[in-house]
Amino acid sequence: MSLSRALQVGRWKCHLLEGGRQHLDGGAMFGVVPKPLWEKKNQPDERNRIPLGLRCMLVEHDAGPVLIDTGVGNKESEKFKGIYGVENTGTHGPTQLEDALLEAGFKPGDIRYVINTHLHFDHAGGNTFVEPDAAIRPSAHPTIRLSFPNATYVVQEGELDYATHTNERTAASYFLPNWEPVRLAGRLKLVRGEVELIPGITLLPTPGHVPHHQSVLVRDGVEVACFLADVMPTTAHVPLPWIMGYDVEPLVTLESKRRLESRAHAEEWRLVFEHEPDPAQAVGRLQQDGKSFIYQRLDTP
Ligand SMILES: [Zn+2]
Repeated sequence: MSLSRALQVGRWKCHLLEGGRQHLDGGAMFGVVPKPLWEKKNQPDERNRIPLGLRCMLVEHDAGPVLIDTGVGNKESEKFKGIYGVENTGTHGPTQLEDALLEAGFKPGDIRYVINTHLHFDHAGGNTFVEPDAAIRPSAHPTIRLSFPNATYVVQEGELDYATHTNERTAASYFLPNWEPVRLAGRLKLVRGEVELIPGITLLPTPGHVPHHQSVLVRDGVEVACFLADVMPTTAHVPLPWIMGYDVEPLVTLESKRRLESRAHAEEWRLVFEHEPDPAQAVGRLQQDGKSFIYQRLDTP
């Protein structure tokens, strides 16, 4: 299987990087949507889990390569990986993300910026890594290193605060080793609200999944691609009420989706779906269908 596919946005060459898979509870992925409806789109396994992609995006920018999200990483236990059905073992590096990066022609040390849409473990877990043999060494505290040692990591200030002040509901998704070593190394850049990070790359708040969730717009002239992240994790989440049970503010997600979809349709954005299980459906546009929008597949080379 090819781990990297190109997406040209004006003068910016982007690469969709397949960072592996995870398997999450189908009911949790579709919130209040009844199973007879969602199981037609995503067939669950015997444990009611559906397969999900861990897709990241690399933008070849004049300022240096920009990586959006980093997958699950390699720091979690076998038990954890079993629960979430994580399949992301790498051949040439800590995870499959590094393999995909290599296939696109890049090494981890090349990355200039890492943008985290938010700090959940399946989006920021690959920010840092442990040496693969750390678990069998006697040290109880294996050294955690930055996966992209020359990068500035970018996250919303509100999200960092939210991730470090968890409650009983949110704690299961936020693990300090995914960002604290970055912060301690002075490599964390905090932003507030909508910001053009570098020319053509804009961080767009799309709250609801978490209060400071952001999507990423890549623009050159009228050509725009939007890396959605968890505001619409798969193509099945395009209908407005198809909102994850994981979202902490589902009605805020609803309004984020409403705004984003009408703009994406009007400006003919290409949408990149991070968790879409079928790589062939990772990119699409929205098509009007009565009062709502539906997904229209776009092929990538
Ligand atoms: Zn996610």
